[in-house]
Formats: sequence, structure tokens, C-alpha cells
Amino acid sequence: MKNYSLNIGWLYPELMSTYGDKGNIITLVKRCEWRGIKTEIKKINEISSDKDLLSCDLLVMGGAQDTEQEIVAEDLKKKKKTISGMIENKIPGLYICGGFQYMGKFYKTADGNKLPQLDILDMHTENPGGKRLIGNIIAQSWLFDNKKIIGFENHGGRTILGKNIKPLGIVIKGFGSNNLAKEEGAIYKNSIGTYFHGPILPKNPFVADFLIKTALELKYKQKIDLEELDDSLEEKARIQVAKKLSVTI
Ligand code: GLN
Repeated sequence: MKNYSLNIGWLYPELMSTYGDKGNIITLVKRCEWRGIKTEIKKINEISSDKDLLSCDLLVMGGAQDTEQEIVAEDLKKKKKTISGMIENKIPGLYICGGFQYMGKFYKTADGNKLPQLDILDMHTENPGGKRLIGNIIAQSWLFDNKKIIGFENHGGRTILGKNIKPLGIVIKGFGSNNLAKEEGAIYKNSIGTYFHGPILPKNPFVADFLIKTALELKYKQKIDLEELDDSLEEKARIQVAKKLSVTI
């Protein structure tokens, strides 16, 4: 796959990256490199232009705590139109926790601050303060032939999905988007929103490959079959975590 290349847009790497989210970037780069696909990481932050954003074939944003989120929410207002357009145009993306919350209509912080969000997805988030939803989590996703996604969550925000949006999966162990509905994350066009830190991609290589494949197909306007990689080590790690949670995968 020597002639292919991808620009990976890493949104606000300094402010939005907790609980190992940087591992998602490393995983994407490595899985491309092992297949001979060239990558360039484009860090997108307060000084980036729309042109910088539009040069990205794939977007990734990690999570953060409320203070960082308030700073980023301010800057996101300037980029809202471009990011919304890219998501609508099926640019694949991975938005974790705080990054996922931005996709909705608003985020009400634990201090009661109502931060307007990108308003791309029919959902909103409220953080009631008090008990955080923390721990290892496993969800089953229809998007990946009901494969189980394994990760770690740590959030105060409860995300409530509207009627027009599908969850990414159903929670088998853990809390998920809120502690009531047993739903996890959301999928819209080629964008995945999720509470899975951990980070998600090394533990679930099929999610990384979904992003790489869809980004290549959109860029090169042709069907792409990714070369298989040896994921036996990743599989062993997955089985180990699942065992701890008494789940068979
Ligand atoms: N600040 C958000 C919350 O607690 C997001 C947390 C995170 O990204 N880990 O809900």
C-alpha cells in the first residue's frame, strides 16, 4: 500500500488528551506504517487555520476535564463551521469523552455552566457533579459485527442521545454514556463518539482499521482492502481484561 498517505488531524493535543488518549494517534500511525501507508500528524489548536483543518483526512480528539474543555469550547466556535462540514462530508473521526461531548448541542458542567457545543449530533451532556462514572468498560457494537470494544471510562458528564442518533454500542460491563440507558457512544456518518479511554485503539485494533479504511476510501475514491496484521498480542490483552470483568470475548 506504498502509494497511499493520510494526514491525521490531532485536535488540541495539549489540552485534550487524558488517560492515554495519545495512544490512539500512535496506533493509527503504526498500523498505517506496518502497511506502508505514509502518515503525517497535523496538530490542530488555537493557532490553526481552516486550511490546516481541511488538509486532514481523519480527525482525532481526546478527552479532558471541564477547565480545559471550557478553553477549547471557546476556540471551537471559530472552527465549528469547518469541522461540521468535514463531519457531514464523511471525514472519519474519533472523538473521546470530552471530545465526544463537543459533538452535541450543549454541555452543562458540574459548576452549572452551559457550554454551547458543535451541535452536529442530536444529543446533549449534563454533569450533575458528585459520582463520576469510572472503571473498565466493555460494550458490544453493531458497527463491528457485534465485536466487543474494551476500554476505560472516567467521566462526570451524562450524555443523553436524541431520537435521531444511534449509539455506538450496548454496554455489557461498566456505565457508558449515562448510567441509565446502558448505551455507549454514538456513530454519525464516519464519526465515532465514545467515552472509551484506555486508550481505545490499541485495545480494539478493528476500530483503528475502520478509521484508516474509511479515510483512505474517501480520499482515493475507491474500495480499499487493508492488509491483515498480526493482532495476536492485542487479542491476548483483550482476553485478559475481559477475564477480569468476567466477560467472554
Ligand atoms: N469533563 C468531562 C466529564 O467529566 C470529560 C471527561 C473526560 O474527557 N475524561 O464528563
